[in-house]
Amino acid sequence: MEKEKVIIIGSGPAGLTAAIYTARGQLNPLVITGPQLGGQIALTSEVENYPGVFNPNQVPTGPELVEIMQAQAEHFGARLEYDEVTEVDFSQGSPFTVKTWDKTYQAEAVIITAGASPRKLGVPGEDEFVGRGVSYCGTCDGFFFRGQDVIVVGGGDSAIEEALFLTKFAKSVTIIHRRDSLRAGPQLQKRAFANEKISFIWNSVVEEITGEEKVERVRIRNLQTGEVSEMPIDGVFIFIGHYPNSKFLEGKLAMDEHGYLITDELMRTSVPGVFAAGEIQDPIYKQMGTSVGQGVAAAMQAQKWLSEREA
Ligand code: NAP
Repeated sequence: MEKEKVIIIGSGPAGLTAAIYTARGQLNPLVITGPQLGGQIALTSEVENYPGVFNPNQVPTGPELVEIMQAQAEHFGARLEYDEVTEVDFSQGSPFTVKTWDKTYQAEAVIITAGASPRKLGVPGEDEFVGRGVSYCGTCDGFFFRGQDVIVVGGGDSAIEEALFLTKFAKSVTIIHRRDSLRAGPQLQKRAFANEKISFIWNSVVEEITGEEKVERVRIRNLQTGEVSEMPIDGVFIFIGHYPNSKFLEGKLAMDEHGYLITDELMRTSVPGVFAAGEIQDPIYKQMGTSVGQGVAAAMQAQKWLSEREA
């Protein structure tokens, strides 16, 4: 059993920020990265709205920001373990038990920043064609669709941002949205409407994805007229929101009906000594900036909690 002062579960902006703060606070934190170092921001092409790093000639990418945050955390002494938490036991209070695929740890305090994952459409063909035309990440897979026709499902910031990114590769990008107006912010909307490669199918949903070896077509239903049509397509990019990665915490911490951890203004969960930050407890803002701020707050509160306990 490895003994730690603080374990941070997850390595997105909230987790790496909590690592920087707890490391500078001499708590020697261990970050268990989870399956994706950097979390969702590591899969983001351009980050235009995070303050302090903007350069109009070369907008920073998500992976670049993750690299800097990781280097900053490690510089101050945080250790990163490339592993995934499979189980926790908070029932006996501190020290808590945290199990990964490889090891079992004891930690005096835990900061949970396990983030969120892309939601699925839940239509026939979706699972079957993941990696063969169905994708949840333009930054990762856009390159494979050079000169091809793709659709993007969704109308939020992610869908529009990724649709714009995909125009760098694809011949055409058709956005299929279930309503007749976008949820995305005005700046992104303006860019999408001005982009010649982007077109829209409104009030419509994808009902089925079909093909032989790879995606070849989608069946689309117009929600107003009920009309069903088939569209030949090479790629289907789905951006319809996220769900919190809290399954491993079910029954261990209080959460809302959607699985978001319930925290108070001090980032405390329902178990004293266990804190949470970032999208796993934030169904509202979900920004890199807010996650970073919550990571700072969780780290400071964990530090305070530990020092009060020792006093
Ligand atoms: P989102 O804002 O929740 O948008 C999800 C979109 O998918 C909505 O347009 C929604 O339609 C649609 N949708 C949901 N379920 C669907 C279904 N079953 N079938 C078809 N369409 C469905 O999610 P997001 O775009 O991933 O953004 C999440 C958060 O991150 C937001 O707070 C966003 O502001 C933020 N974000 C910000 C940036 C940025 O600032 N540059 C970039 C990315 C994300 P309705 O509109 O009808 O609900």
